[in-house]
Amino acid sequence: MTTVKVRRKIRLALVSSMAQHAGPICVIGAGIIGTSAAFHLVESGARDVVVVDAGQPLSGTTPAGAGFVARFGADHNRRLGPCTVPLQDYGLAFYRRLHESGADLEFADNGNLVLARTSTMLDTMTEGILRHPDVASGTRLLDADGVAEVTLGAVDPAVVAGGIYMPEGIQVTTELAQHELITRLESAGVQFHWETPATGVRIVDGAVSAIETNEGTIEASTIVLAAGAWTQSLLASVDRRLPLIPMVATRFVSEPAGLSPLMPTVQCLELNLWLRELHGAFSWGGSFSYRLLSALIEDGLEFGYGRPVSSVLLDAQDEHREQIAEVFPALSGLSASETIQGIPVYTVDGGLYLGPVPGIDGLWALAGDSESGITHGPGMGKLVAQLIMNEQPFADPTPFRLDRVDPASYPDEASMVAAMAEDRIAKVANLS
Ligand SMILES: Cc1cc2nc3c(=O)[nH]c(=O)nc-3n(C[C@H](O)[C@H](O)[C@H](O)COP(=O)(O)OP(=O)(O)OC[C@H]3O[C@@H](n4cnc5c(N)ncnc54)[C@H](O)[C@@H]3O)c2cc1C
Repeated sequence: MTTVKVRRKIRLALVSSMAQHAGPICVIGAGIIGTSAAFHLVESGARDVVVVDAGQPLSGTTPAGAGFVARFGADHNRRLGPCTVPLQDYGLAFYRRLHESGADLEFADNGNLVLARTSTMLDTMTEGILRHPDVASGTRLLDADGVAEVTLGAVDPAVVAGGIYMPEGIQVTTELAQHELITRLESAGVQFHWETPATGVRIVDGAVSAIETNEGTIEASTIVLAAGAWTQSLLASVDRRLPLIPMVATRFVSEPAGLSPLMPTVQCLELNLWLRELHGAFSWGGSFSYRLLSALIEDGLEFGYGRPVSSVLLDAQDEHREQIAEVFPALSGLSASETIQGIPVYTVDGGLYLGPVPGIDGLWALAGDSESGITHGPGMGKLVAQLIMNEQPFADPTPFRLDRVDPASYPDEASMVAAMAEDRIAKVANLS
């Protein structure tokens, strides 16, 4: 059979599976990933798109996100893998496009700095980032004075060895980005059902036909699960499972610190830290204030939808402040003027899930954000929209398939956590 005939056959199969039942394309979850999916479905010509969310607008994990966006896959020290780089490039271009079209995202293109306190770590970072085949042009090694210069005095050069500066990195305010997408979708006629928890997916003859919600049934020809930390329970409603590890993470915004708005986003493995400037203050956090959601619930955390509040983690972060201030002196003594927590979801292999749910026509899932949904949301949304609309995908979807990992190999969370041994937050997960 010629390539053209094979393509036509696949196309017909996809179109017929899409059209099996009547109704709109329904996206479950209006976080950055679900709204990105809806946005790109509309952009690809889908005429009838509905978004269902269990909560009020902006009530999920997304506004907790610190807003770092960079080419995190072009780093051998991370588990995301080079297959994610096209999605990161798309995310970088997408937020820039929104910003240039007049959206207020508090966008800044100051780059991303990976900081090293010791020369050993600097060597590891140099090897992993500068020698990576996908290294972006302009990525460069900085000595301690170079770090102080690029951070406009925020870092004490006496206590660091240097860093790797990735010039392409940008930063956005996550809540504003999500709000912008919701507003644009509403203007395009997309219907949102707020405070409408989906409880299950109705399947007829092996294909989706509707979403069941607390407010009744919504017909659907195609369903995209993008419910963040809650996706697992929706998959369970159709007897499917993915090895997913929800973790509560914390972000503090300090009192005003006089930081420069030109400062890059900063990450430091030795301090387990990420940190950036926000309105002159520090917006910061790290794995010292992360913990498995299951462990917190076991210890009495009450949690349904929305964002958790764990005072244990707030205290843990507070206790870490002076240690971070050894490198960022202006943080010393500054309390948090705002605290916000959310639930990133990790995967056993460090990658992302994006694709059809095996064995159920018309059901798709975007899951396992691996604490990088702000970066990957636009690319994940575009890729799934292209697959659903039968367009040529801009990136290879194969590495993101849901069936790349056998869930039976991970019967419980302990077995999933064990598989994270190489991850930067594995220590925290194992502590829980
Ligand atoms: C402290 C912190 C810092 C972070 N920093 C960064 C960063 O700098 N860069 C980066 O790339 N990523 C970062 N992340 C990760 C990023 O925030 C997440 O990956 C991203 O927000 C996940 O988006 P989402 O759409 O999957 O989830 P959410 O925003 O939680 O959206 C899911 C939505 O689904 C809805 N929902 C759930 N269940 C149902 C149901 N049954 N029916 C209907 N709706 C339902 C929820 O109400 C929610 O609105 C950070 C995360 C945290 C917590």
